Amino acid sequence: MAKQNKWRKLYNEQVSFVCPYCLKTFPLSEATKEHEPPKSRQKELGKPSQIYLACKKCNNDKGALTAEEYAEYKRLLHLKHGHKAH
Ligand SMILES: [Zn+2]
Repeated sequence: MAKQNKWRKLYNEQVSFVCPYCLKTFPLSEATKEHEPPKSRQKELGKPSQIYLACKKCNNDKGALTAEEYAEYKRLLHLKHGHKAH
């Protein structure tokens, strides 16, 4: 198993992914598994969650929000900081 982990580590450092929330590119080694919609809200929303890769920051920030709510949250945050909406 140790050998495989070494290979996996190297692979993860070489391969990059684009975070679907901030659209930045990160090495796969920094990817976190993100449930969308959040596991805790599956019942409320009535659909099973799927796993996506997201950066740690977005995953933390997003918490129990759905992708839509998180996009809206980021938009509002943007406005609050005085930037013009896109
Ligand atoms: Zn991100």
